[in-house]
Amino acid sequence: PGKECNLSYLTSEYIGHQIQFADDMQEFTKFPTKTGRRSLSRSISQSSTDSYSSAASYTDSSDDEVSPREKQQTNSKGSSNFCVKNIKQAEFGRREIEIAEQDMSALISLRKRAQGEKPLAGAKIVGCTHITAQTAVLIETLCALGAQCRWSACNIYSTQNEVAAALAEAGVAVFAWKGESEDDFWWCIDRCVNMDGWQANMILDDGGDLTHWVYKKYPNVFKKIRGIVEESVTGVHRLYQLSKAGKLCVPAMNVNDSVTKQKFDNLYCCRESILDGLKRTTDVMFGGKQVVVCGYGEVGKGCCAALKALGAIVYITEIDPICALQACMDGFRVVKLNEVIRQVDVVITCTGNKNVVTREHLDRMKNSCIVCNMGHSNTEIDVTSLRTPELTWERVRSQVDHVIWPDGKRVVLLAEGRLLNLSCSTVPTFVLSITATTQALALIELYNAPDGRYKQDVYLLPKKMDEYVASLHLPSFDAHLTELTDDQAKYLGLNKNGPFKPNYYR
Ligand code: NAD
Repeated sequence: PGKECNLSYLTSEYIGHQIQFADDMQEFTKFPTKTGRRSLSRSISQSSTDSYSSAASYTDSSDDEVSPREKQQTNSKGSSNFCVKNIKQAEFGRREIEIAEQDMSALISLRKRAQGEKPLAGAKIVGCTHITAQTAVLIETLCALGAQCRWSACNIYSTQNEVAAALAEAGVAVFAWKGESEDDFWWCIDRCVNMDGWQANMILDDGGDLTHWVYKKYPNVFKKIRGIVEESVTGVHRLYQLSKAGKLCVPAMNVNDSVTKQKFDNLYCCRESILDGLKRTTDVMFGGKQVVVCGYGEVGKGCCAALKALGAIVYITEIDPICALQACMDGFRVVKLNEVIRQVDVVITCTGNKNVVTREHLDRMKNSCIVCNMGHSNTEIDVTSLRTPELTWERVRSQVDHVIWPDGKRVVLLAEGRLLNLSCSTVPTFVLSITATTQALALIELYNAPDGRYKQDVYLLPKKMDEYVASLHLPSFDAHLTELTDDQAKYLGLNKNGPFKPNYYR
């Protein structure tokens, strides 16, 4: 899905240092001093609770009713170039970031190694991603490499308020809080882009909303932009549409289709977080429950593996015969949603599509059916169709609504149809480290590429880069790679140092 970039800057400057880099990592993991603080931080951190229940940071505080947009806040250095829920939570947020750093040693090594060199000096990055402790490690790495950053959230529910506060305290211009309104969401993006005396020259996007906003409101900004790095399926899809229509006016890197993103973040992150999100919100037991998962792509595969392991009876819906066949081979029944909608206990969407669960489906669900979404956008479940006078909405917990039909039937809607794991649970740091490292390297590459290397097109990072990012994460497992012998390399027609697979291999 795109052209492979040449990667000469990275190849020479970074991948060439692979061995040294791996050594750095071992050195980093050798000193467990911070780990000692880890459990302490966890036990006293307020954020360990509010990150899952969405509770503490914005529903429990006394000034809860006041919108962050109305508040005058300054950090300890006197700057008010940010808008977060409560700057006083910065210390809690800092602890969360330190905890995340423990599992993101590849980024920390990158920080250490590139400290003198500053490959992002002069980069002005405007970013729109989930604002979590893990993203904070990425943002602070970009800053350590020389970039200036302005950041907003790509989801109105996923911001960890205390982390946003810690970033603001550290001087990052962050505009985000948990529980933004739709209007707040675009206001925050606008504040990041539209700033007197500061103009972005790089975009890091997750979902394409920031890119869309710049196209719509500030097309002139693209004159200075050196490139866009996009992380999500949804955003990448939008970039290809722009490219096809001849409207993409800067180079873009498709990080989503890097193996180290798609096969790790989408698959393993969801496998590890789907149950967490469901359990924290509903206390549901999965053994023997009937669950239908819409979409058997990477996210769907991850969700199904976890559900199956707990003894749930899993059905799949798919439009693609290949993914449908994979589901069959993995032992799942492939059905149409209509065939099972009356009997299932849980409905999970992960298609990246829209209107997969319609009002008609919702009308036919049984009492207490749980409905949630793991795809990027809140378009998969037609939540708008539930905002009608005959239905009553009851907020029973943070992020949990009971939608009640006139006959008393209740459907349990989670996070109002927004992506469940990032709204209602935490996600595994280590997996995000792999994606974040890929994003950082993509930004470095685009920013440093000589004029003309990249055209107004969507590029994929080459396999060698995927292999490099993977290799950076192997020391954490004490994994020992086998090296090809000269004879074997010749036999397979490979360079002993990779790439070991063609770019299309998944
Ligand atoms: P994918 O393309 O691999 O999988 C989506 C699947 O849905 C495809 O197999 C497609 O054929 C199927 N599909 C499309 N329309 C359908 C329909 N109407 N009914 C049934 N199946 C349908 O994409 P993916 O990597 O699995 O990502 C899916 C979504 O999840 C995207 O929006 C992505 O941005 C998001 N995502 C979420 C997380 C998370 O942590 N929650 C992580 C990564 C990606």
